[in-house]
Amino acid sequence: MTNEKIQRISLSNLEQNFLEVEPGLTTREAVEESNRCLYCYDAPCIKACPTGIDIPTFIKKIASGNLLGSAKTIMSSNPVGASCARVCPTEELCEGACVLNHSTKPIMIGNLQRYATDWAIKNEQTLFQPGESNGKTVAVIGGGPAGLAAARELARLGYDVTIFEAAEKAGGLNTYGIVSFRLPQKISYWEVEQVEKLNVKIRTSTVVGKDISVEQITENFDNIILAVGMAHVPNLGVEGENLDGVYDAIEFVKATKSGKLSNDLVGKRVVVIGAGNTAIDGATCSVRLGAENVKILYRRTEEEMTAYDFEYEFAKQDGVEFRWLTAPKRIIGDERGRVTGIECIKMKLGEPEKDGRRWPVAIEGSEHVIPVDAIVKAIGQTRHLELIESFGLNHAGGVVKVDQGTLQTSNPKIFACGDVVFGKGLGDAMVVTAAQQGKDVAYAIHKQYSVVGTAN
Ligand SMILES: Cc1cc2nc3c(=O)[nH]c(=O)nc-3n(C[C@H](O)[C@H](O)[C@H](O)COP(=O)(O)OP(=O)(O)OC[C@H]3O[C@@H](n4cnc5c(N)ncnc54)[C@H](O)[C@@H]3O)c2cc1C
Ligand code: SF4
Repeated sequence: MTNEKIQRISLSNLEQNFLEVEPGLTTREAVEESNRCLYCYDAPCIKACPTGIDIPTFIKKIASGNLLGSAKTIMSSNPVGASCARVCPTEELCEGACVLNHSTKPIMIGNLQRYATDWAIKNEQTLFQPGESNGKTVAVIGGGPAGLAAARELARLGYDVTIFEAAEKAGGLNTYGIVSFRLPQKISYWEVEQVEKLNVKIRTSTVVGKDISVEQITENFDNIILAVGMAHVPNLGVEGENLDGVYDAIEFVKATKSGKLSNDLVGKRVVVIGAGNTAIDGATCSVRLGAENVKILYRRTEEEMTAYDFEYEFAKQDGVEFRWLTAPKRIIGDERGRVTGIECIKMKLGEPEKDGRRWPVAIEGSEHVIPVDAIVKAIGQTRHLELIESFGLNHAGGVVKVDQGTLQTSNPKIFACGDVVFGKGLGDAMVVTAAQQGKDVAYAIHKQYSVVGTAN
């Protein structure tokens, strides 16, 4: 790429690249789409939504012009319903279950949900009120979708809730992890604000286990909810990982969401390792940062990739290339310590293992070098092992063990929800499932005290 072209891709150009891609429905489109809904009795779309949003009701309210009522219907079931309107794999959930799949095309439930919640955001609506105080205190560790959902429901039931959040702002991966061209931060901030308006205290920039001790939390609250999600991307375990130009995908996306855009990747060749949603986000971010060529390397095949279909399509539309059955062997650098290439090896899939997955096996002699300027690692996430062990909780490799009914951990005072209990074959790590678990934890705590009262 010429210097002239590089200069033309200024930082303000890059900022444009990170604006939301989907424009959202116009009023006319939203009303027309709402009128297509059959308002099914026993609607399958409701059952397919992990938070059980009353979809036909919120759609009907859009059709009749009651947007406040519509937003309330959505948000009362899903405390992060505005984010979910943008990031849920709707074709696998509500839209996948819509009866109209059999005749024409499903109702655009996600887009309608976005239409109603966008209205509430634009019109600065406060949707819920705190419940009458019952004198019980709850500490929520982690202010992501799971923690916010738990805090919101508890506050509506009259609990005195404090969220401890390590990052500068609450919202978890909605604020820092899911790329801004799919989920702008202002959406997540509004959901956090809705929780704060219920008198929930949010202590940001506070790492539990460092800025405040586990003992202080345990002593000062009646109940604790662990909602810390997962941690950083693990090491690849290959030579050269510490070279300049090797990034952790989560930190990489976080930098773009925190406004720390740089034109270091303009005209560069980027390789992303992994094929989950994080890998796709790392790849599409690289494209928007001006990279000339972006490749995703995956040691299995397209069939085994874990990214949602819509994410995969999105990456292909962005021109991201995929190299299947390819694993990294060594990262190569120059004398200045900067990445210049990645040595890879071709793989083949072996026989299915006990869990049904076919394990990739290296093909000796198939080593080859791909010249690159940057590498983004996206091979999953590690766990908050130290914190989990400081609380003395039972876990399996960092996945906190909970009673499946009550979400209570091995310490009856402590509950857990969201990504911290997902993984290793347990549950689907999604925003919407984290939110539902947060709600479930709130109701489990409430049930334990048998406090009389209803949510406002
Ligand atoms: C890149 C990426 C893209 C994704 N895309 C999608 C998508 O399109 N759709 C979808 O449904 N899901 C997506 N997911 C998954 C989804 O984001 C998670 O399942 C969801 O955010 C889990 O919510 P959570 O509240 O459990 O955890 P998190 O969102 O991770 O929140 C945990 C919070 O705890 C805080 N915390 C951690 N340790 C401490 C501590 N010691 N003290 C205090 N606070 C602490 C963290 O700072 C964080 O704010 C994606 C995930 C990633 C990584
Ligand atoms: S299944 Fe489809 S048509 Fe029926 S209520 Fe749900 S969105 Fe409307």
